[in-house]
Amino acid sequence: MHEIQLHNTLSGKIEPFAPLKPGQVGMYTCGPTVYDYAHIGNYRTFVFQDILRRFLKLRGFKLNHVMNLTDVDDRIIANAAAAGVGIRKYTEKFVQAFFTDCKTLSIESPEHWIRATDHIDDMVALIEKLQKNTYTYPSEGSIYYRITKFKDYGKLSKVDLSGIQAGARVDNDRYEKESARDFALWKAPKPGEHFWETPIGAGRPGWHIECSAMAMKYLGDTLDIHTGGIDLAFPHHENEIAQSEAATGKQFVRYWLHAEHLLVEGEKMSKSLGNFFTLRDLFAKGYKPSALRFALASVPYRRQLNFTFDPAGNQPGMAARIAKAADDFDGGLSDDLNTAQALAAVYDFVREANTAMDKGEFRQGDVSAAAEFLGNFDQVFAVLEDNDAEKLKAIGFAGDDGGLSDAEIEKLVEERQAARARRDFAASDRVRKELSDRGIILEDTKDGKVRWKRK
Ligand SMILES: [Zn+2]
Repeated sequence: MHEIQLHNTLSGKIEPFAPLKPGQVGMYTCGPTVYDYAHIGNYRTFVFQDILRRFLKLRGFKLNHVMNLTDVDDRIIANAAAAGVGIRKYTEKFVQAFFTDCKTLSIESPEHWIRATDHIDDMVALIEKLQKNTYTYPSEGSIYYRITKFKDYGKLSKVDLSGIQAGARVDNDRYEKESARDFALWKAPKPGEHFWETPIGAGRPGWHIECSAMAMKYLGDTLDIHTGGIDLAFPHHENEIAQSEAATGKQFVRYWLHAEHLLVEGEKMSKSLGNFFTLRDLFAKGYKPSALRFALASVPYRRQLNFTFDPAGNQPGMAARIAKAADDFDGGLSDDLNTAQALAAVYDFVREANTAMDKGEFRQGDVSAAAEFLGNFDQVFAVLEDNDAEKLKAIGFAGDDGGLSDAEIEKLVEERQAARARRDFAASDRVRKELSDRGIILEDTKDGKVRWKRK
């Protein structure tokens, strides 16, 4: 097997990948800020990290992948206040839309989906640590991070801080990329807006502290991999490093991976240019989810991806090649179900499509035809969708994912019943928890029996 090589933004180099603990990877991805629907540029990054996590799993790594939902920031607090609803209520619609979109694009769920608003205590504890280490100063009810005290500031993004003034600061998280200044860890409450009452004062967290606190809570002081869009490298990720390393004195992240921008028709997406698209916009235009995932995954993550609607944007040679592959596939199956010949048509096509992608000759217009061809292949062969574990479990075989067989479950249920009968409730709780951790829910019926089902 090949050695896995990844480009690390921190060193600016391609490096061999080896996790801190052999066989296990701790990975963090900055998730969406749920004040609006995510756009296809966001999904380019999420598809990239999905390819990464699927590949690491395929290579046998046990993955602990954390993705956050930023469900508190200045815009969310202001919008929720304007709408006269709580933060949870305001963000819920966008959270659910994000989950649905991820499912639609076959983006796997990470091991932990977490919300910033569930981790205010962790953020406060981290700020207290920074206070203790004297990296902070208070001002008008807010708490700021003193950038000049952190000597390594700029090591990720290579931002030049020669012009920075000590104590210069901005109150807004959404500041210009050029302004490297002290940033708020904790913000004083604004009249009429939501705030938390905490040991460091009333207020709300800054955006950057959210990711540092949540990443270290679930993954420890040092993460193997941190991913995100390239626009997050500065200041967001630079600030995450400054906060985390000043608090722990240890390296925060070993491999930083950043996905490049997605352009639409050669331009950066923006609402004012009218080229800003959510997934739903594209589905309304007739795009299929599989074709979209294919398009987002087809360009290596460190290259800009130019998304184009030009229907003439297909490559004549490629279109002809897809048509020939479809014909060969049909020819093979038509010939008394010659499955080997039909598969050869698929292999040949995939090889040629790869070459075309490398040369930049695989265009947007080719994607749906290619996806349709591969879809037809799997309609007949039905081998691409990996649901073996589910199927085996359904007929009583434990999968290799730690799932329990029916017999194993029955045995544990009996153990729990026996523990209850001898009034050993600690033991019965332990068994219930073990079952719950492995996806089994118990229901005690009125007549003292127990029913179980898989989550
Ligand atoms: Zn983040």
